[in-house]
Formats: sequence, structure tokens, C-alpha cells
Amino acid sequence: MSRFACQKVNDIAPYVPGEQPQDRSYIKLNTNENPYYTSARAVAAIDSDVLKNLKRYSDPECKPLVRAIADYYGVADDNVLTTNGSDEALAFCFQAYGQSGVCYADVTYGFYDVFAHMYDCSSEHIALEDDFTIDPSKYFGAGRTVVIANPNAQTGIALGLDKIEEIIVNNRNNIVIVDQAYVDFFGQNAIPFIKKYNNLVVVNTFSKSRSLAGARVGFVVADSGLISDLKKIKYSFHPYNVNTLSMLLAKNAVEDDEYFKSTVARIVKTRGHLIDGLRERGFYVLPSSANFVLARTPKMGGEELYLQLKSRGVLVRHFSDERIKDFVRITVGTDGETAELLKAIDGILKETK
Ligand SMILES: *Cc1c(COP(=O)(O)O)cnc(C)c1O
Repeated sequence: MSRFACQKVNDIAPYVPGEQPQDRSYIKLNTNENPYYTSARAVAAIDSDVLKNLKRYSDPECKPLVRAIADYYGVADDNVLTTNGSDEALAFCFQAYGQSGVCYADVTYGFYDVFAHMYDCSSEHIALEDDFTIDPSKYFGAGRTVVIANPNAQTGIALGLDKIEEIIVNNRNNIVIVDQAYVDFFGQNAIPFIKKYNNLVVVNTFSKSRSLAGARVGFVVADSGLISDLKKIKYSFHPYNVNTLSMLLAKNAVEDDEYFKSTVARIVKTRGHLIDGLRERGFYVLPSSANFVLARTPKMGGEELYLQLKSRGVLVRHFSDERIKDFVRITVGTDGETAELLKAIDGILKETK
């Protein structure tokens, strides 16, 4: 820290991303990336002409990608804003709609607290039930911006679309943000509601289900008035927020629907094997509608399990938050990676007997 930093910089507790180790190769199940490669069709779009033309700025409107997304979801172009990852979309939303305060679950995506602090939004944590589910009625008439990750981050538990709609209907005088980072592994997408409700902002990403975490592409779908608000922020911050390469990759990934659907289906299938395998080994596993599971063993704490797995070359994620400190979060990898993880767990459990 320098003596020049402003108070806010001194005070802030930044978001801590999961490890991206560059030293040795791990079975990497810690940041909810997709285990399958980016669509080959998407990669083929990047040729030397595209690379040479990086002398030009990227399209600030990101038109080709906006068109592809609008087509795919059956909305108009002016219902879509593309962003540099969905974290940027969330940052824009907190800036645009956070002044009356924000509320979200006590166990959820850690970035919400960071953005609330960054953009001076008073934040309220709404406790999940004992079984980590959301009680929708606790969000009715919130009087502040509601943020729901659906499926929820860290737990993997999803709210049905009927419940999401109840939350929207019971908050007509404030914004409801639905963060759909994991929605494709759940299958109930809230995007169609944007035609009915002009207080709904749906935030999405290419990082998880579309195998493009490193390209940094996210998008917002909402009523055109809301998209105009968010565009004002984007043009006051970074007009070229999505670079040319990432835009092309994402556009082609949307158009390669077959690959997208087949990889999502494989992950959903492997998720079942992972949950079964953990339960057979005495783990308590939360039901998951995402590409990760939150699980704990009665044999040891979450941090201990994380460290032991790491020493055996398997990376998972541990959070020290009080309510989930006994758990680890395990990303659904390939069948092979899942088998390796379960083998490592067998070794650990054998030694702790
Ligand atoms: C991963 C994640 C994001 C951010 O993803 P980007 O890579 O920035 O698009 C947003 N919300 C939740 C709940 C996530 O898990």
C-alpha cells in the first residue's frame, strides 16, 4: 500500500480468485471452468486476417455478437449488452442500480460484497435457510436492488422459474438482477421474462457453459430502457470493452449450438456420477443444478480436505465463510478427472482412519 491511495482503496477487501497455478499441472476443479475445449468452430474463426486487423479498435457496439445472442434467445438487439466477462456486467449494474441499496443471500458469489463496497451501495445479506435453499418470500418488497445468483454460487442450488417470477412480481419498484452464470447446467432460463418485466436484468457469461473463461465475455439481457442505462456506464468507462478476438470467438460459440449442448449434457451426466461417488464415500453433498458441487465429509474440515487434495495434485476450492467452512466446492470435470478425484479421496480417507 502506498501513502497516496484513497480511503476506499485502503479499506477495500478485493475479490480473491481461485488459484490458477502455473507451476505444476493439477487436476483443476477449483474455478468452475468447463473441462472441454472451446468450440473448434469458434477457434477456426480466428485467422491471420483477423489478427492483422487488430490495428483497428474493436466494434464498440459489438454488433455481430449482439445479433447472434439476440437471435439465439429470441430478443431484440437493443435488449442485449455485451461485456468483458459477466463481472463487468455486474459492476455496471451495481453502479446503475445500487444507490438505493442492494440485497442478496448470505452465502453467494463473493463479488457482490466487493462491488457493493466499490460503488457505495448499502448491502443487506438475506440468510439462506438451514438447508441452503432460498426462501423467495424473504425478497418480496425488498425496496432495494435484489441480486439472485440462479443457480446460486457456492451452493449450486437453483430456484425454479416460478419462484424467480414471484420475486420479480413482488419487486416492481426496484430492480431484480438474476445472475445466470450456471443456468445452462440447470436448464430454466429467465431471459424470456424480460419481455414482461422491465425491472429484470439477466446477467450471463460465456465463461462456464461455453468454455470461454479466458476470453472474458459476458452479456446482459433486459428491457431496452435498462440496456440504455448500462450502455451509458459502459461508454463512460470503456467503449471497447469486448476485444475483437473475444467477440468473434463468442459469436461462433453461440452458433456452434451442437457442441454447446453436447458438452453441457456431458457435464450434467458427470455431475451425477460425482455426487453418487461422494455420497458412497460418506460425504454430505448439496443437490446441484450447476457445474460444481458443495460437499463435506464428517472425517475432516473443509480446509484440511482442500490441502490434502492439493498435495495429491487435485485442486478444489475452500471458502472460510462461517456457514460453508466445513465444505469444499468441487467443479465437475471430465469423467476421467472425476475418477482421479474420487481415487484421491479414497487415499485420504484410508489414511485418516
Ligand atoms: C463465474 C461467475 C461469474 C463471473 O464470470 P465471468 O467470468 O466474469 O463472466 C459471475 N457470477 C457468478 C455467480 C459466477 O460464478
